[in-house]
Amino acid sequence: MAIDKVDHIWMNGKLVRWDDAKIHVMSHVVHYGSGVFEGMRAYETPKGAAAFRLPEHVTRLFDSAKIYRMEIPYTPPQISEAILETIRVNKLQSCYVRPVVYRGYGSIGVNPAGCPIDVAIAAFPWGKYLGPEALEQGVAVRVASWTRMAPNTFPALAKSAANYMNSQLIKMEAIADGYAEGIALDARGLVSEGSGENLFLVRGGVIYTPPMADSVLLGITRSSVLALAADLGIPVREESIPREMLYIADEVFMTGSAAEVTPISSVDRIPIGKGARGPVTRRLQEAFFDVIEGRRPDTHKWLTPVYEGVAVAGRAGK
Ligand code: PMP
Repeated sequence: MAIDKVDHIWMNGKLVRWDDAKIHVMSHVVHYGSGVFEGMRAYETPKGAAAFRLPEHVTRLFDSAKIYRMEIPYTPPQISEAILETIRVNKLQSCYVRPVVYRGYGSIGVNPAGCPIDVAIAAFPWGKYLGPEALEQGVAVRVASWTRMAPNTFPALAKSAANYMNSQLIKMEAIADGYAEGIALDARGLVSEGSGENLFLVRGGVIYTPPMADSVLLGITRSSVLALAADLGIPVREESIPREMLYIADEVFMTGSAAEVTPISSVDRIPIGKGARGPVTRRLQEAFFDVIEGRRPDTHKWLTPVYEGVAVAGRAGK
C-alpha cells in the first residue's frame, strides 16, 4: 500500500519535510529491530477532526518503551501534543498517525548503551486497511502455519517493531495463499490474533476474545469493542479459544486501528455462519462508527478535538 505523503514529519521535536525525515543506516533499530510504535487514527466528525483514544495510544507507547528499557525523552502530554501538531501542520482531517520511538545512531553492539532514543511522528491519509468492501462483505482468512511469539520470548504486550517480523510471516503467507489475513495460534495452539488485529467470535449470543496472556497485543479497538458490547448488553467472555471454535462460531470478526471492525466470512475456506457479516458484528460496527464519526454522543470520552481553538482550516480528508 503506497503512502500518500504529506508535507511534514515531527522528528525529535522539530518539523522536518517528509522527504528529509531520514535516519542513518547504522542506527541500532535498523540492525536489531529496536523500536516501538503506535498506529492510531483521527476521524472527521461534525465538530471537526478528532483523534481516537489519544491518551490510551500514548500510554501504550510509553508502556512498550518501558518494557524495552527505553526512556522516551518527552512526557506523555508532550507526545500527545506533538501528535496533534503533526495532524494540524499537515492540515489533515481523517488520517492515520504513526508515532515511532527507536534506538538511533551511536554504537553497533547489541547493547544499546550509547544509542539515542529518537522519536518521530508521521500522519497521513489512509483509507480502509482491508479494502472498503471488507467492512460489509467480510474477508477470507486462514489459520497461519506460523505461531505467535511464545511467552518469555518476545513480549506481546509491547508493540515493538520486532514483533512485526512474526506478523509479516503470517501476513505474507496468507496473501500468497489468496487470503486477506492470517490468524495465529499461540505457543499452546490456542487462538491468539491476526498479524495486526485482535480476534473476536460470537456463538449463542456471547462474544469471546482471547485474554491478555494468550500472546495478544491489548488492542485499543479491542477495548473499545468490549466497552460497546457492555453498552449494548451483549455478554463478553475473555477466555482462551481452541482453534475449532473458529469454524463453528456464528460470527468471527477482527479489530484494529487500521482494520477497524472487520467481519470474517470464512476461515480455512470454511464459511462462518452464513458466510457473511453477522448481526452482532453489524451492531458493534454501527456503534463503533457512530462514535468515531460523531453521530452518537462520545460518552466514553474517546475523541480529542484536533483543531479546537486553533485557527487553521483543515483540508478534506480521504
Ligand atoms: N494485534 C496486533 C498484532 C496489532 O498489530 C494490532 C494493531 N495495533 C492490534 C492487535 C490491534 O490493536 P489496536 O486496536 O490498538 O490498533
